[in-house]
Amino acid sequence: MRTIIVGFDSFDPEIFEPLQKTGKMPNLSKLVEAGGYSRLEVCSPPQTEVSWTSIATGVDPGSHGIFDFVHRDPQTYIPYVSLLPTKQSVLGEQFLHPYTTKTLFQEAADMGYPATALWWPALFPARPELPVATIPGLGTPDIRGQLGVGTYLTTEATEMKKVKVAPLQAAGNRKFTAVLEGPTGKTKEGMRPIVLPVTLEVLDDHSATLTIDKQKLKLELGVWSPIIELKFQAGFAFTVHAITQVILTSVKDRVSLYFVPLQIHPLHPLWHYATPASLVKESWNVTGGFLTLGWPQDTNGLEEGCISDEQFLDLCDLIFSQRKKIFFHQLSKFSEGVLAGIFDCLDRVQHMFMRTRPEIVEQWYLKLDAFVGEVRSAIDKLGLEKYRFIVLSDHGFRTFEQKVHLNHWLAGNGYMQIDGQSETPDLRDVTWENTRAYAVGLNSLYLNIANREGKGIVQPAEIEPLLDRIKTSLLEWKTEDGQQIISRVLLKHEAFNGPYSRLGPDLVVGYAPGFRASSETGLGKSAASLLEANHDHWGADHCIDSMKVPAVLFTNRDISNMPGISFRDIPFLALGKHLDQSYIKPPSQTGAQGQKDLEERLKGLGYL
Ligand SMILES: [Zn+2]
Repeated sequence: MRTIIVGFDSFDPEIFEPLQKTGKMPNLSKLVEAGGYSRLEVCSPPQTEVSWTSIATGVDPGSHGIFDFVHRDPQTYIPYVSLLPTKQSVLGEQFLHPYTTKTLFQEAADMGYPATALWWPALFPARPELPVATIPGLGTPDIRGQLGVGTYLTTEATEMKKVKVAPLQAAGNRKFTAVLEGPTGKTKEGMRPIVLPVTLEVLDDHSATLTIDKQKLKLELGVWSPIIELKFQAGFAFTVHAITQVILTSVKDRVSLYFVPLQIHPLHPLWHYATPASLVKESWNVTGGFLTLGWPQDTNGLEEGCISDEQFLDLCDLIFSQRKKIFFHQLSKFSEGVLAGIFDCLDRVQHMFMRTRPEIVEQWYLKLDAFVGEVRSAIDKLGLEKYRFIVLSDHGFRTFEQKVHLNHWLAGNGYMQIDGQSETPDLRDVTWENTRAYAVGLNSLYLNIANREGKGIVQPAEIEPLLDRIKTSLLEWKTEDGQQIISRVLLKHEAFNGPYSRLGPDLVVGYAPGFRASSETGLGKSAASLLEANHDHWGADHCIDSMKVPAVLFTNRDISNMPGISFRDIPFLALGKHLDQSYIKPPSQTGAQGQKDLEERLKGLGYL
């Protein structure tokens, strides 16, 4: 068996098909012309970590247990990040595997073949006990255990929501000093962030010398540095290794530079990052260093204006090039088994530019088509007799004009009672004795069910009529100019199959294109209005009605007589057999995180 899978996060059929018809997609066209193209039905909700997990396992969230970026502990209503479940142990906070359902990679390994999964979401922490080689994707934390917060050093007094700001202090002629905060560790003053001193000497109008952790490097204005390796002394004889990249963004009126989030050093990881060690070493050598964060394309730095559009796009190019080198290196050694790589820069580019600069999005489609051509020539060079080649995405994409405050709607319609004076009350401000439904996560709505929720009041006989009533009202909800806000609402049994369905939301809310849950809704919060215009740089999204964002599937075999292909078919297409999911361990759950912790942890994720 020889299967090569290339995943393009967010590759959208409605953008691809017209480009293909005008001849701009020569490499993917070859697959289309041979009958190897189909739109791919995706699972609900069409969120990246849910969808790639469903593709890898061939089952929906009811069988793998990842339902949304944010889950909640029904007893306490405390939300947590589904991708980073944790437990407290004597060693401190430990990350658990988000799910353990069998993947196509495990199946290939069980069949006796080598299997490699590069940047597939939800594969952090690594599982060295399995014979699958992995470098994880979305969900891999930074060295603080969060999803990634960058640091902006500046001479300007400013505050930012999604980025840490630290002052650059004048220290002589064109010389500035600052500190870069690292992970928390034991200091004389107790548990505190460990810091490294930073010195910046401006040389002229376009360059400066940066000194950090005894390293000196020259920075050119607007150009990303190579990967920098840093060491934080976190207590007696305990060093945390980290990597980052930095960019000098201004040297005139103000002086400023931006560090991407401090990331796990793959050669000296703080947690089980990837497996086996040889894969990490080879990948490091072949790239000269690569970013490890699950979401390394710094959308937060761009959203906050720390870096420009062009600097963000340069970073995406660097990440794409790092990943291509790693992928091609693995491909050059490929003789049998499964090799998969997910390339997700297009997703970040669409989030940030689909609404305002569609020409940039188009360039990325062309770039990915060219990459497919390169992959096919590399495969040809291997001279393999028979192989399966699959290119697919996890969902499509739509512009995002209106943020929906679903908890405000629930409160306004009498399903929820919120007390307190906060402008953005959260689930701690809810009077549960008078609340029958609540929303937390980007597509999830829960009933407050007696004996399931900690302060549940909805009795078994009320569940069905209540769900029907909420579903009908949500579908009838329109804007003042008559636009439908929610185009599909699925009951639990319509959305999910499998033993863990009971852990999932009672309703999956499918927003109509143009709408999406507000970040407040994602965190279980409410706001002062039902809808809010989206003026963010983040102007497009996919966490909506899954029917409105189908994915794509290309393969080197004729699938024109296979209508209605869905995520459930991918393991079969990849391995020629269905996965046996008869023994599934429960997904990891955690209730130890609080609201503040959740918000800190999620900061790195542009969705919230
Ligand atoms: Zn995605």
